[in-house]
Amino acid sequence: MQGLIQHFPLTTNAILEYGNRVFHHKRIITYLPGGKRHEYTFGEMYLRTKQLANALTDTLGIKPGDTVGTFAWNHGPHVELYYGISGIGAICHTINIRLSSNQIEYIINHSEDKVIFVDATLVPLLERIATQLETVEQFVLLNAPADFSTTLPNTLHYEDLLTEQPDEYDWPEIDENEACGMCYTSGTTGLPKGVLYSHRSTYLHALTIMTPNAGNLSSKDTVLLIVPQFHVMAWGYPYLCVMAGANMVMPSSNLQPAALIDILQREKVTRANGVPTIWLGIYHELKQNPPAEKLALEEYVVGGSALPKSLIAGFEKDFGIRGVHAWGMTETSPLGTLSRLQSKHEELSDDEQLTIRAKQGIAFPGIELRIVAEDGTPIPRDGETMGELQVRGAWVISSYFKTLNKESFTDDGWFRTGDVSTIDEDSYMEIKDRTKDLIKSGGEWISSVALESALMAHPNVKEAAVVAIPDKKWVERPLACVVPIDENNGVTEEELIDLLSRDFVSYQIPHDFVFLPEVPKTSVGKFDKKEIRRRHAAGELS
Ligand code: ADP
Repeated sequence: MQGLIQHFPLTTNAILEYGNRVFHHKRIITYLPGGKRHEYTFGEMYLRTKQLANALTDTLGIKPGDTVGTFAWNHGPHVELYYGISGIGAICHTINIRLSSNQIEYIINHSEDKVIFVDATLVPLLERIATQLETVEQFVLLNAPADFSTTLPNTLHYEDLLTEQPDEYDWPEIDENEACGMCYTSGTTGLPKGVLYSHRSTYLHALTIMTPNAGNLSSKDTVLLIVPQFHVMAWGYPYLCVMAGANMVMPSSNLQPAALIDILQREKVTRANGVPTIWLGIYHELKQNPPAEKLALEEYVVGGSALPKSLIAGFEKDFGIRGVHAWGMTETSPLGTLSRLQSKHEELSDDEQLTIRAKQGIAFPGIELRIVAEDGTPIPRDGETMGELQVRGAWVISSYFKTLNKESFTDDGWFRTGDVSTIDEDSYMEIKDRTKDLIKSGGEWISSVALESALMAHPNVKEAAVVAIPDKKWVERPLACVVPIDENNGVTEEELIDLLSRDFVSYQIPHDFVFLPEVPKTSVGKFDKKEIRRRHAAGELS
C-alpha cells in the first residue's frame, strides 16, 4: 500500500522559493576580480533569477533539457545562473576553467552547450577555442565593462540581458528526477566524464549536508565558499546556504591566502569549505602574519584530498579553528562522508580524537559504503583491512553522460570509486590511497597518503607528495617530493627518515627524496602525481 502523502517535487525551485520566503533579508557578498565588494540580498537575487529565467526562455530560446554552460568564478550572478537555468528545466553545466584547452573544448562539445555565460576575465581562455565549439550559439559576458572587446562571436552583456525583463516568472512543473546540473570529472585518467545531477539528488544532498552531524550550517552562519562553483557545484553550498539561510561570501578569483584571510576577517565568516592546499596556505599565512583579532571562523570543511592530521592539530592549537574532514567525488554530488566525533569519544585523549577526525568519516544517511577484495568479496569493517571502496546512494551517479564506462559500476549497482580504504567498527572510513597511487614494494602495499600526512607533520615541511617509482629489486619504491617552508633553512633527508621511522616499518620508508619549491597540482588543486611520475621518468627531478 502506498503512503498517503502529497507528491512534492524536490527541485532547486523549491529551495529558491523557500530561501526567498524565509530568508529574503540574508546576504550574498561578492569580492569581484580586482577586489571590489558587492552585496545584495537573497530577495534581490531571487528577483534577478526570475529576470534571468525570462531572458533564457524568451531572448536566448533555451528549452527544458538544453544544456547551458557557465565559465565563471564564484559570485552572485553565478548563483543566479545555478537557479535560473535549472529553474526553467534546463541543465546548468559548470565548466572547470582550469582544465586544458583541449579538455574544455571536448566537454563543451560533448555536453552540447547552447549558450555559455563567461566571466570577462576568463574570456581569453574561450577565445582560443571558439572556432572549434560546435553547438554554442551565444556567449553572455559576466562582469564585463561596457567597452569590453572580444573576438568571441555573438556576445551579449549579462546586465543588458536582464534589463527590462519582468521579475515575475512561473516556474514550470519539473519532475524531481530531471537533470538540473552537470559537471565533468577532472579527467586525471583519460577524457573527462560527465555527471548529471538531478533536482532530487541536489535537494537531498543539500538538506543532508546542512545538518549538525554534517556541514552544521544554520541561519546564524556566514559562509565563505572557497570551493569553486565550477568544481562539483561548490560542493552544493549555493543550495545548502539558501536552504539554511546562511549569508554567502563569494571570493571570485581572490583565492590567495592573504586575500582569503582578509575576507574572512571583514565579513566575520563562521564557516568555509576548501581543499587542503587552500587550508595549508591559509595556515602558513596566519602563522607568518598573525591577525590582530581572533577570526570568527569556527570550522572549515575540507576534502578533495587527505587532510594531514598535523594541520587539523595546528589550526586548532594556534588559532582555535576546527577542521572537519570530508570525502567525496564528482560522482557523489560530491559529499559522501564527513568525520565528526560522537558523544562516546569525549573521554578519549586529544591524540585519539585527532586520529578519528583525520579519517574521512562516516557516510551520510542516504549513502552506503562497502569495501571489497580484488575478487569482489566484502572485507570486514575492522579499521585494518584495506579494500576497494564502493558507494551507492541517493546522490551517487548511476551512469556517466553519453559514456558507458561499465567498469565503473558493479553488477549489483554500486559505483567503484577507485579509492582504497578501510572502514572501522563505528563506520569511519579512511582513504589509504587511490588504487593507481598505491605503492607496491616487494609485494607489500605502501600508502602514499599515510607517508604524506606524516611528512607534513614536520614543522618545516609545507607540502609532501609521495609517488611510486620503478625499482629493479622491489618493483616499486616510494619517492618523496618535499616542499620546505623555509628554503634557506631546509629539512634534511635524515631528519625526515628519522621522523617516519617512528610510525612506519623500514620497507615503507622512502629513501629517495627530492626538495622542490612547489608540488605540481591538478586543475582542482590536488597533488598531480601523474605529472610527478612523468617528470621523474624524464629525469627532470633531481
Ligand atoms: P576527479 O574529477 O579527479 O574525480 P574529484 O574531486 O571527484 O576529482 O576527486 C575524487 C577523489 O578525490 C576521490 O575518489 C578520492 O580519491 C579523493 N578524495 C576526495 N576527498 C578526499 C579526502 N578527504 N581524503 C583523501 N582523498 C580524497
